[in-house]
Amino acid sequence: MKNSNINQYDIVISGAGSIGLVQALLLAKHDIKIAIIDPKPLEAITKVDDTRNIALMQSSLKVLKYLGIFDKFYTKSRPLKKLHIVDATNRLLRAPEVVFSANELDIEYFALNVPMGAILTTLCAELPKHSNVTCLFNNKIEKLEQQTSSMALTLSDGLVINTKLLIGADGRNSVARKFANIDITTKLYPQTALGFAFKHDRDLGDFSVEFHRKNGPFTLIPMQNPEKGFQTSLVWSESHQDAERIKNLPKPELAELINKISNGIVGKITEIGYIASFPLANIHCSTYAQDRIILVGEAAHILPPIGAQGMNLGFQDAAIVDDLVLNSIKTDSDVGSDLVMKQYTKQRKMDINTRGKATDLLNISLLSNFIPMQFARGMGLFMLQKSKTMRVKIMQKALHPLGRTPTSML
Ligand SMILES: Cc1cc2nc3c(=O)[nH]c(=O)nc-3n(C[C@H](O)[C@H](O)[C@H](O)COP(=O)(O)OP(=O)(O)OC[C@H]3O[C@@H](n4cnc5c(N)ncnc54)[C@H](O)[C@@H]3O)c2cc1C
Repeated sequence: MKNSNINQYDIVISGAGSIGLVQALLLAKHDIKIAIIDPKPLEAITKVDDTRNIALMQSSLKVLKYLGIFDKFYTKSRPLKKLHIVDATNRLLRAPEVVFSANELDIEYFALNVPMGAILTTLCAELPKHSNVTCLFNNKIEKLEQQTSSMALTLSDGLVINTKLLIGADGRNSVARKFANIDITTKLYPQTALGFAFKHDRDLGDFSVEFHRKNGPFTLIPMQNPEKGFQTSLVWSESHQDAERIKNLPKPELAELINKISNGIVGKITEIGYIASFPLANIHCSTYAQDRIILVGEAAHILPPIGAQGMNLGFQDAAIVDDLVLNSIKTDSDVGSDLVMKQYTKQRKMDINTRGKATDLLNISLLSNFIPMQFARGMGLFMLQKSKTMRVKIMQKALHPLGRTPTSML
């Protein structure tokens, strides 16, 4: 299937974020020619200011094993064995503390907490090992023209390339999504999440603590420890105004505030890293593939950062695309056909919608001042605290993507 024409690629990926890179490495295993495009130069893709950690669940870890790069991630990460949920809403109806433990599922850990910078540098370092992947960085698609059985893409440097399938992995403001004329539904929340890491002098252990506050969760995620002291990543949702204020606090005041909210569980805080901020939204698409364009990662779905779902969903998207591509290679059929577009949307719709709705419900149940909603939330947590069966069911739902398991996640 590999094309010999220099400007002809079987598949073009727009976006070299975590999901675009995973997609490129999965597809690189086949005998096809791939191009990956990103407006940033390579140094900017790998050198991120973002100091937050991402919890990669077992299904995503299986993809890393399939790619043969799991060990490279393992050495940079910390396992997540327990998740404590603490009701810190200070409301009249307060829920009990709930602990989810990986050993209730007979597994060693739920996820690996990996620094965002390590994810990008490790994935990027793999690209040069694949001669069938061309990196067109510092570049982007300016124009897309549909042809009878392919597309012509004009890049910002003037190069025109031809392909049968464009994979949009270009994030929240996806250009690929616009080229495909795919409509989105956007729900903006009155919150901004702050994400950053800091050092401290008391170990949290291999567990995350999620304080549920009235403006959203405040989640401490243990990181792999540096030589001296300990290190934790924090994801903290607040109103837009408070988030802006907190971001600009002098560091000693910020350390004091973190300690106050978390009841001093991490001890003395030092070296607070760069604070990234993310206005929260829930965005979903009317379809996930159309006119030879398939959307993956945040180009396809944005969720509030509750339950560590976003990037894990993106891994699932990339793994499903990989199976569809492999099938079209085996059957010598058109990888950009309407049938492939329909199959992709069908295989992703339920998983993406279910997780979108669940994270929306969890988020609004925290923000709501409506007493019956607060009661329902409290009751839900109370029942989870009492029932191992319920906890196990919830953990299984959170960890395992819905629908068919793709080859790289078996
Ligand atoms: C605070 C916070 C905590 C989170 N924690 C977790 C977690 O623990 N677990 C989890 O699973 N998920 C988590 N997420 C979600 C996760 O961060 C995202 O799902 C993931 O980073 C999205 O990756 P992506 O590659 O799809 O998009 P991006 O990272 O946005 O990458 C998009 C890429 O496209 C490029 N691009 C932009 N414009 C163009 C263009 N015109 N042409 C080509 N390329 C373009 C960009 O330069 C970038 O490289 C969290 C999110 C937040 C906000």
